This record gives sequence, structure tokens and C-alpha cells, in this order.
Amino acid sequence: MIPLLLFFLTINFQSDFKGFSSKDEALYYSELLKCEGYFTKNDNDKIFYFPCSSESELQNAYQEIEVEPTVTEIWDPEPDVINPGNSFRDAPSDAIILFSKDNLNEWVHKNGKEAKWIVKDDYFTVNPGTGDILTKKSFGSCQLHVEFKTPENIKSKGQGRGNSGVYFMEDPNSPGDSGYEIQVLDSYENRTYSNGQAASVYKQHIPLVNASKKPGEWQSYDIIFKAPIFSERGSLESPAYVTVFHNGVLVQNNVQIQGYVKFIGYPEYKAHPPKLPLKLQDHSNKVSYRNIWVREL
Ligand code: MG
Repeated sequence: MIPLLLFFLTINFQSDFKGFSSKDEALYYSELLKCEGYFTKNDNDKIFYFPCSSESELQNAYQEIEVEPTVTEIWDPEPDVINPGNSFRDAPSDAIILFSKDNLNEWVHKNGKEAKWIVKDDYFTVNPGTGDILTKKSFGSCQLHVEFKTPENIKSKGQGRGNSGVYFMEDPNSPGDSGYEIQVLDSYENRTYSNGQAASVYKQHIPLVNASKKPGEWQSYDIIFKAPIFSERGSLESPAYVTVFHNGVLVQNNVQIQGYVKFIGYPEYKAHPPKLPLKLQDHSNKVSYRNIWVREL
């Protein structure tokens, strides 16, 4: 393509371009232009060669190819300038901080009461039995960064070890779980069903690899969630999709979510508002969280 572009630039911007001085050069461009032969023009008793068999054929060949690089340039809109921070952990300047340290002001229990999980400095820990906590703000499609740590002191196995969960679009008014769960579990040398291990879309999608760290070590999820779309009548128009990086490793690659999380039975969709809270699950294990931020998409 580059020789062609050079040719067009020459033709378009040098008004004194008279043609090529050799037949071979013209034939070379004929091939690139997908036409045949060459034609000539005389200028001061000198012969110049052009690609294609006639001027009209050359013009047609021209028009079939977009010659101006600017044709494919798009200038609007211009992306907003943000400060990305120094590492992937840092909240970018356009993120909403859901927890950085000291308090759970952005969170409530499902009944709307103050979050009773235990805050210590720059992290907080599930307070078993107090129940799940939800963000006060509601979100649809978003990018979420969350760090977690499962208990170092191992007491159980399978689903009983470091179980919690990150839920998207949890309806505060539904009696049971209603959102879409990315499982939090201690999956370090702890076998369970594959679509229930850490970073699974719970009971739906198995992570591509097990990128878990040892219990007691901080881990991260970076999640890109695309909210489902429902028609006004409540039928599903577009399902939800999710991409998950576990400790920086891609483990869910834009997988289609099959419905809200169900412990028993197959997933299904139920229409819900376009924005709902995020949720962290109290599964009776003392899982800790820190550095949580979200960007609306
Ligand atoms: Mg869970």
C-alpha cells in the first residue's frame, strides 16, 4: 500500500508531475492499481508513461482506492484526559473510590443499615453473620478494581475456604441473591467444582487458569462488566458480559453471563433497572478487602 500512497501523493501534490520516465515503472503501478498496460503522453518531445491503458481507466482505478489518509481519521469525540496513576492498582482520576481506608461510608447492609464489617487501616474484613454489604451508589456497565485476601488460618476446604464474592447489579429489594457473581474463594491448592473456584462466574464460567495466590496474600480482580439490557416489557435484549483479570492474568475473556447467580438450578435473567449496587458477600469466612474503585462505562 505504501508505494501506492506515494504514487498518489506524487500525483496529487506535485502539479508538475508529468508521468514516469520508464514503461516498467508505469507497469509496476498498473499492477498495484489492478489495471492493465500503460499509456503515454508527450511533453516537450519527451515521452512519459502512466499506469493503466488510458487516462479514464487510471481515473477509475484511483477512485476505487481511498487515497487520502485523512479519509479514515476520526477526530471527534476527543477522549477526556485523565490521570491514570502510577500502577494498575492506583485509582485513575475519573474513578469512584469505594474504599481506600478508615471507613465504610460508601457501603450499607442489604437492609439499608450501616455496614458492620470490621475496618482496620487500609482494609476491612467480613464480619461473619452480619450479612452482605452493598454500595450506596448504583452502577451499570463498569470497570472495577478490588483487592482481597483470604484467611491465612485455613479451617475448612472446598467452598468453605475463604468464600466471599463480588456481585454486580444486586437488587437491594430482592430477598435472596440477585446479582452476577465473580467468585472469591481460597483456590490455592483447594479443589472444588471448577465453575465455583476463585474468579469463576459462579456456577457458570470456569476461569481460563487458576491464578490464585496463597491464603493470606493480597490478590486483585480487575473486572470489566457489561450490563444486560432489557426491553421496556422486561424481555432480555442483550445479556451481560464480563472480562476478569485475576492478579493481572486474563481469566474470563468477555464471557456471556447466563443470568443472575443461583446456588440451585440453572441461571436465568430477570429484568431489573439499568443501574444497581455492587455487593460483597458474607459467606461466613473472614475475607478481607482493600483498595476498591470503579469507573462507570
Ligand atoms: Mg461466593
